Amino acid sequence: MIISSPENNYDIVVVGGGMVGASFAYALSKSLTASCPNILVVEATAPITDICFQSSFDARSTALSFGSRLIYESIGLWEEIEEQVSPICEIRVSDRGRFGSTCLTREEQGTEALGYVVENANLGIVLNTQLSESESIAHLAPAIIEKISPKEEGMRLEIVAGDNRFQVLAGLVVLADGGRSPICDQLGIGQSKESYNQHAIITNAAFELPHQFCAFERFTDTGPLAVLPLREFNGENRCSLVWTVRAEESAEYMELDDEEFIVKLQNSFGNHLGAVIQVGEKFCYPLSLSLAKEQIRPSLVLLGNVAHTLHPVAGQGLNLALRDIEALVSTLSSAVTQQKPLGDMATLQRYVEKQDFDQQNSIRFTDSLTKLFSNNKQSNVILRQLGLLTLELLPSARKTFAEQAMGIMAR
Ligand SMILES: Cc1cc2nc3c(=O)[nH]c(=O)nc-3n(C[C@H](O)[C@H](O)[C@H](O)COP(=O)(O)OP(=O)(O)OC[C@H]3O[C@@H](n4cnc5c(N)ncnc54)[C@H](O)[C@@H]3O)c2cc1C
Repeated sequence: MIISSPENNYDIVVVGGGMVGASFAYALSKSLTASCPNILVVEATAPITDICFQSSFDARSTALSFGSRLIYESIGLWEEIEEQVSPICEIRVSDRGRFGSTCLTREEQGTEALGYVVENANLGIVLNTQLSESESIAHLAPAIIEKISPKEEGMRLEIVAGDNRFQVLAGLVVLADGGRSPICDQLGIGQSKESYNQHAIITNAAFELPHQFCAFERFTDTGPLAVLPLREFNGENRCSLVWTVRAEESAEYMELDDEEFIVKLQNSFGNHLGAVIQVGEKFCYPLSLSLAKEQIRPSLVLLGNVAHTLHPVAGQGLNLALRDIEALVSTLSSAVTQQKPLGDMATLQRYVEKQDFDQQNSIRFTDSLTKLFSNNKQSNVILRQLGLLTLELLPSARKTFAEQAMGIMAR
């Protein structure tokens, strides 16, 4: 339900109604229907209801793993999301200009799809519609949480919405305000940050040939290039590109006109989908591995990018956050059943322990893939080719790799 001024007290306040905050609020409201907690979601940008962008739901696309599909299915959202996705039926991994490639297929993995690609703006519309229709979630946007301070048994939040200021008390604050969090700075929650010295150039492209639901991960001299299948639109064979380039070269790529960019892209990607016909507007994101030094405090839990921002190479960021959400919702539901306060440290600690293995595993998987495939040192090239050869020759290795990519390893 959309509100313009909040009440004084909430059981839970979610800071940030992006992909993670909105998914968490909805999942929790579904899980706790009987006990009806009152939940407030505060989002800095106006909600999207049509194709125009809210900060979390920008021009990017996201590869949702099969595991994420199961999570959205379990909270009754998959039907709406499914209308907006393109399935990934095959993933082809190759190293440009060198031997070594492998292919994962849904048939071999015995699943309906290896994953699904959704445009962030479309996922945003689905999530925002659910928030505005939910009876148990109050959605305040645009509004900014300016300050959070600990109180006995909860947190006090200062909210600014236009010319209005509000103070709200919450039993639990779920911080889902993304990778650059002034609130963490205020609370003295440190981050360990390692820059990859790379930027991701994002754009959509139309190709001569249909993608046949195939995703390509191609390792080029600058870094990995992912070409992901999008839903057909206006008869165009559209794909979403995530092209990792060295930080010092990204301005050069961004300044290329469409024709020049198409030549560079065609040269790196090859003719897998015939000629590149058209490219859309380009966006650039600096890439780093950032990890919060604390994920919980009494009455506070960090979710999504504010807790861990990963390199997009393996498409793990949102997928991992959705598994965190599933674990947190289940932990909070048990606390409610046992009539324990939601912000209780012992409860939050159980959540962190539950997710520790999955988080460490996903961080390691993404970080090592990034480092292995991002430079052409002779030792890395050899390891890469051995890796691709092993995947190609050993179905069991392909299965393990596919399970990690599909987000079903930790389930
Ligand atoms: C190029 C690229 C490609 C990616 N591809 C994939 C992929 O294929 N698969 C995958 O799983 N992941 C992918 N990711 C990762 C994924 O995008 C992130 O995991 C996800 O965006 C994290 O969402 P979030 O809600 O935590 O943060 P954000 O998306 O940053 O959202 C934070 C929200 O909080 C709001 N906010 C901030 N401060 C305040 C405040 N003080 N008060 C109120 N509101 C506030 C913001 O307006 C924003 O809406 C990719 C990332 C990049 C950069």
